[in-house]
Amino acid sequence: MSAVTDLTEEQALFRDMIREFARKEIAPIAAEIDESSRFPTETLEKMGPLGLLGIPVPQEHGGAGADLLSYMIALEQVAYACGSTALTLAAHTSLATLPILAFGTEEQKRRYVPDLASGRKLGAFGLTESQAGSDAGATRTRAVRRGDRYVLQGSKAFITNASHASTFVVTAKTSDAPGTRGISAFIVERGFPGFAVGKKEDKLGLRGSDTAEILFQDCEVPAENLLGKEGEGFKHFMRTLDGGRIGIGAMAVGIARAAFDAALAYAKSRQVFGAFLASHGATQEKIADMAVALHASRLLVYDTARRRQEGRPHTREAAITKLFASESAYRVTKEAVQILGGNGYSREYPVERCFRDVKLLEIGEGTSEIQRIVISRSVLEEPGPA
Ligand SMILES: Cc1cc2nc3c(=O)[nH]c(=O)nc-3n(C[C@H](O)[C@H](O)[C@H](O)COP(=O)(O)OP(=O)(O)OC[C@H]3O[C@@H](n4cnc5c(N)ncnc54)[C@H](O)[C@@H]3O)c2cc1C
Repeated sequence: MSAVTDLTEEQALFRDMIREFARKEIAPIAAEIDESSRFPTETLEKMGPLGLLGIPVPQEHGGAGADLLSYMIALEQVAYACGSTALTLAAHTSLATLPILAFGTEEQKRRYVPDLASGRKLGAFGLTESQAGSDAGATRTRAVRRGDRYVLQGSKAFITNASHASTFVVTAKTSDAPGTRGISAFIVERGFPGFAVGKKEDKLGLRGSDTAEILFQDCEVPAENLLGKEGEGFKHFMRTLDGGRIGIGAMAVGIARAAFDAALAYAKSRQVFGAFLASHGATQEKIADMAVALHASRLLVYDTARRRQEGRPHTREAAITKLFASESAYRVTKEAVQILGGNGYSREYPVERCFRDVKLLEIGEGTSEIQRIVISRSVLEEPGPA
């Protein structure tokens, strides 16, 4: 039996390639895009031709045809270099491309997936509304069928990639059926009449990623752009988030590892009270706790990615992975700032950016509180001891 973190030769080669790419092309501009809140268009233009915008998409749909674990490894490596670029990649792949592949008709897959997987177009996912975040079932955006089209009315908030995406996968209510059974999913193109991008968010972290509102004012969506059946949108989006949450875990490992490595290097070179920081017991305890958190988080990411790839149930595991990895990463980056002292608080060093970036991972794709609800519900529903 091999260890959870064992990789095939192909996965290891892929990891090395993406690490090299991230080191050369992504890391050098990470601080600048954060500082200026600038979307890294040039990086995405380089990632597309290398297949990095369609890693887990089968080759027949224009993707790289790699497995889900390879994609998670890529997210970790990109996040190590730049959290903003990783979030852009994650929203595009996990939340926009993969649901079309999973729930789309053959025609929808043919029409949208190759452009997304090759990076010719960028994707985005619209679930959250100003009055429907954690309670995503409270969606107010409506879609009314008129002949061969639906007319959408409403808006979505905090949409990653909104200002740059061409293809949006969104939810809207098509009926007042009880619970979430009136919610449907649609593929909306930027050019559809009545579609607009609204206010851009000015964020604490991940400032090189784009987050904005999207608006539907009598937005006309062809009936064939319904994704899945009417009333199944919420269910499809929750399944999409199961996958997205593993990606958040991978990003958490990447960002936290970057902070950890910076803190380690600092602890080995900084002298206090006549000895290197790393030789003081208090620092060693921090380093040990950080190493434990990183190792356990990565095991969860790898294990849950394999589960999803194999088609095994993984809603609880994805929530556990996201919750544990994001909260661990928050602690790791906080301790990294602490190890650097005043320098940790300064923009001269990268750890403050990691600390700011990582906070989103406890919020996006379901807050920690929501993950705890998902996990406890699943545990309590179990029939009894195995
Ligand atoms: C940078 C960024 C990018 C994002 N990208 C996207 C995107 O691409 N697409 C998209 O659709 N959304 C996106 N979001 C939205 C994100 O998913 C939501 O912000 C998140 O789900 C929380 O919703 P909310 O902000 O409305 O908070 P609320 O739901 O109002 O929650 C506020 C607080 O209340 C807590 N809370 C809520 N319900 C309960 C409960 N039952 N019990 C206890 N506590 C509870 C929450 O955990 C939180 O702490 C993004 C957000 C950010 C910040």
